[in-house]
Parts: sequence; C-alpha cells; structure tokens
Amino acid sequence: MDYLRKTMDPAAGQMISKAQRDQVETVWDRFEAQQPQCGFGLLGICCRHCNQGPCRIDPFGDGPEYGICGADADLIVARNLLRQVAAGASAHVDHAYEAVETLSLAARENTPYTIKDTVKLKAVAAKLGLETTGKSDNQIAKEIVNVAYSDFSNHHGTPMKWLKATAPAERVETWEKLGVLPRNPDREIREALHQTTMGMDADPVNLILATVKQGLVDAYAGLHLATDLQDILFGTPAPVVTEANLGVLREDHVNIIVHGHEPMLSEKIVEWAQKLEGEAVAKGAKGIQLAGICCTGNETLMRQGIPLASNFLAQELAIITGAVDAMVVDVQCIMPSLSRVAACYHTKIFTTMPIVKMPGAEHVVFSLMEADRKAEEIVRKAIENFSRRDKSRVDIPDVKTKMFGGFSVEAIVGALSKLDAENPLKPLVDNIVNGNILGAVGTVGCNNVKVRHDSFHVNLVKELIKNNVLVVTTGCSAQALAKAGLMLPEASEKYAGDTLKAVLTVVGNAAGLNAPLPPVLHMGSCVDNSRIGDLLTALAAYLKVSIKDLPVAASAPEHQHEKALSIGTWAVSLGVLTHLGVIPQVLGGKKVTEILTGETAEKLLGGRFYVETDPIKAAQGLIEHIKSKRKALGI
Ligand code: SF4
Ligand code: SF4
Repeated sequence: MDYLRKTMDPAAGQMISKAQRDQVETVWDRFEAQQPQCGFGLLGICCRHCNQGPCRIDPFGDGPEYGICGADADLIVARNLLRQVAAGASAHVDHAYEAVETLSLAARENTPYTIKDTVKLKAVAAKLGLETTGKSDNQIAKEIVNVAYSDFSNHHGTPMKWLKATAPAERVETWEKLGVLPRNPDREIREALHQTTMGMDADPVNLILATVKQGLVDAYAGLHLATDLQDILFGTPAPVVTEANLGVLREDHVNIIVHGHEPMLSEKIVEWAQKLEGEAVAKGAKGIQLAGICCTGNETLMRQGIPLASNFLAQELAIITGAVDAMVVDVQCIMPSLSRVAACYHTKIFTTMPIVKMPGAEHVVFSLMEADRKAEEIVRKAIENFSRRDKSRVDIPDVKTKMFGGFSVEAIVGALSKLDAENPLKPLVDNIVNGNILGAVGTVGCNNVKVRHDSFHVNLVKELIKNNVLVVTTGCSAQALAKAGLMLPEASEKYAGDTLKAVLTVVGNAAGLNAPLPPVLHMGSCVDNSRIGDLLTALAAYLKVSIKDLPVAASAPEHQHEKALSIGTWAVSLGVLTHLGVIPQVLGGKKVTEILTGETAEKLLGGRFYVETDPIKAAQGLIEHIKSKRKALGI
C-alpha cells in the first residue's frame, strides 16, 4: 500500500505496484531521486540568462544580493516568470495556429477536413462582425480564417481582433489603461524574450505588466481561437456519457491511446479506428478500444464520448498495464520517459509532430493534407502490434467510473433553457442571487508529482460542493474529478450541499435526466478554459457588473505546466481570484510576490493569485472570497 502516499486513484496505485514488480521506473521514482530539489530554483532566484552566470541570490541576506550584472532577486524572479508565461502562451498560440490552418483547409473542396458545426461558424462570424447573409459556409470560414491570420500579421499598434471581439468591453478598457493589450501574438512573445535577455528591462513592475500581456496573448490568440475553430471543425460539445480510468482498456481489444492536446489527428484516429474494426477482428481481437490521456483525451471525450484512460501523472501507468498496443502523441505534456517505459512492454509510441520526436518512438509525420492516410497507417500498425502483446504481462485494473461530459457553454445554456427558454441564464442567476448556489469555482490544470496524485483536486472540490459552490472544470483537473466519480448525478446526492443539490435536481429533471445534474461540469480541455471565460462574460453581462464583481474564483490545485501559469495570469487579468495549490517559483522576489498575491494586483486588475497548499483551507479561502463578493453585490 506504499502507493497510497503517491496517488489517491486506486487504478494508478495498482499500476505503481506493478511498475515496482516489473522494475519499471516511473515519475515518482525520478522525483525521489531529485530530492532535495534546489532551494534557489524553488524560490526563482537563479538566473542563466547570460554566460557570466549562473547567478544565485542568497535568500537569507548573508550572501550575494545581486547577480553579476546587478540584477536583484525581484528582477530575476520577474524575468523568469515572464519567460515561463510567454512559453505557456506560445504553446497555446501554436496550437491555435494549427486550428486556423485546419479551418483554412476545410474551407476548400476535397480536403481531409470539413466544417461540422455551421451554427458555431455563424456565431463566431457574428462575434467578429462579419456579414454572413448570402455567403456559403466555405466563404464565411475563409473570412474567419482571414481575421485570425490578420492578428498574426498585425504590424500596427492596434489590439488583436479576436480579443476585441470576444473579451468583455469593460476588461478591454482596463487592459488598455494598463497598456497591456496585445497586438500580434507572435510579436508579443518575441518581445517577451527580448525584454528578458541580459541587459534589458530592469523594472520588475514593468515585467509583471508584460506578463499580464502574455496571459492575454494566451487567452485570445491561443485558448479562445483554438476552441472557436475546433468547435466549427469538429462540433460544439453536447452532453455525453462515457467512462473514466484505466479500467476502460480491454484485454481482448486492440487498445489505442491518444495523448497530447490537439484534436486534428485524434479526430481522424477515431474515424479510422471505426473503419478498421474488421481488420482488428481478423487479427483475433474483439475490436478496437480507444482511450484518451491529457487534453487530446478531453477533446475526443467531449465531442466523441471516447473514454478517458487517465490524466497527466498516470501516462506511464497506462503502458504498465501491458495492454496498450499504441500510444499516439501529438504535442505538450508528453513525458520523455514514455519510450523507455514502452520498451519494457510491447507498446508502440507514435510521435507525429515535427517538433515532438522521441528516441525509441516511431515517428509518423502527420500533415493536415495527409491526415487520413496517416491515421489509417497508425491504426493499422496498432492492430499489427496486438499480436505481439505478452498476455502474461497484462494486468488492467478493474477500476472505472461512469461519467458525464460535454458541457460547453452552449450545452449548459441548452439545459437551462428547458427551465426558461426566453431567458436561459435567469434560473442560474436567480439561484445565485437567492443563495441556493453560493457561487462558482473553475478548477483547472495539471497533476504535479509534488502533490499526492489527484488528491488536491478531489478534496478541494468535495469541500466546495458541500458548501453549495458549483464547480466547472477542464484539463487534468476534470479528469481527476471524473475518475473520483464527481461527474455523476449520484455525486450531487452524495456530496452536494442541500440547496445546490435542489437546483441541480430541478435542472437535471428539466433536461430529461430524471436525476440531478452532476455537481461538477466538465467543460473540456485546457484551451477550453475559454468556455469558462465565456460563461463568466455572459453572467457578468446579464447582471450588468464586471467579472471582477462576480462571486466566483478559479483554482489550479496541482499545476505543473508553464501553460497553467499563463492561463492563471489571464484569469487574474479577468478579475478572478486564482488559487494555486503548489507554490510557484516566485517567493524569492518579495516585491513580485506581494504584487501578484496582494492588493496591487487586485487594485489594477480586480483579481490576484492566492497560494494555499492545504485543500480544505484553500476551499475555505475560496468560499470566504465568494462570500465577500456576494456581500459587495448586496446578495
Ligand atoms: S543576466 Fe545577470 S543575473 Fe543573469 S546570469 Fe547573466 S549576469 Fe547573472
Ligand atoms: S492540465 Fe496540465 S498536465 Fe494536464 S494536459 Fe493540461 S497542461 Fe498538461
């Protein structure tokens, strides 16, 4: 039971024990081997930005106060943070760019992609101010693509069009006053790298403002752009029922896992897995079982109901079941250890992107024009690999949970419209105003090996819903909560406070569930945090207040990735209190820490970061914040 220290997920626990028996190294072993981790790094006060370094600042004041060039602790911390947030933003922007290229292709005849959601197509066009009357879907798509490309090629001082079209006007005004409105995502990311090189900006406050700008780059040239276009291409999610955890793998099926973040290839894998089912049967399997990990998993779950294998920290454990014939990865959050783990079993790792290669993996070059051929090739190779499986080494944990997913804003509004077709947000707002729903928290982000796997997500959320706080969620947080059974109507019965339960029951019954809505709504992948932003925008508009005045908060309980920091920066910029459950590497800069977590951020933006490493105390802190916002609103 040693694994209980490492994870609260029983399936993951069983596989950690199997890894030990099979003598396979996992992320937990490597974490132990790294102890003690460097205190300078943990505090953010080491700098390697030039070859005079590395320089380190003594946090106790006994040693050096300045790096060789004269940079002090706050400057080093602020520069490091800006680089991290810019890197996070770059990942989402690159992802969104791929979505733009895909839509550009879909707008032409005879390409592998088509436009699936014409309602969303027109809705996005309307937001961008494009005239749609009398135009074909392809023409509208081309005009949308042109707006997206014009942001990437904007050489003027004007703000990004996607931001102006989708962010609340009051926020745009606030950001404009602060001088942080991004113009062109590529230019801003380039500028952040320039600004943080040796001998550039020496003002931590100016660097923090540049960090805020990167959060906006991420949100409007990354998250929002990707979600909008992916919905047009592959459909806006609607409620689906599926299953979560390693028990979704099947002993008698060809098991293929899709892992990473982008849906362009995984959507094709879903298609080809269906088409080639017969070939799998001919090879002695009963069929093909697809499952997802990380946000590619969330994308295929939200739109196709593909079950979820697990989340970030359990990616190696999926292979350790001995039952995975192929793991297909695209971009981001892919542990470099995967091919070493796979070499201990029969699993084939397929890398597919030119910027993600891995020694020991098979590289199948994916291109949008050849999407079908590449997906077909990968699925065929997975089927072939099934016969190499060593049955004596297969051990699939008998652990899985039914779950509901697919709660896009459109789906939530759809469920609420069953109560009030004219004014769908009214029932939600009325219940917030009368206190049945105390407020809402969005839990997002990763797993982090420094935290017992999934436990912060689950314990925090149980405490929140017990106190009548509605939870919406994305990313690996959503996956942790799904595995813990919190995305089921029964979870409302079991864990939700009485008034929240009553509201969820009314909405669930009206939506035809004959049961309450789950207390935790899965809104998608990390880029789909834009959906949470849209929901907040709609609620604020309905109430005629700013987002910063709403009784809401955000939390990244187990964040590890730079992307989580850039998303968190955006949430703070929207005016939302944003909790972090793992201490970010900034504490060595006292002024920077004070600005990010104290009154300064709140005065300038309305939101701030809140760091608390205990889930129950964190929940209480968020609840107190929600209550203070309610009081200020007079409700
Ligand atoms: S930029 Fe300054 S603090 Fe950083 S490594 Fe060079 S000399 Fe040291
Ligand atoms: S939530 Fe974090 S770990 Fe999970 S897929 Fe997203 S960035 Fe990766």
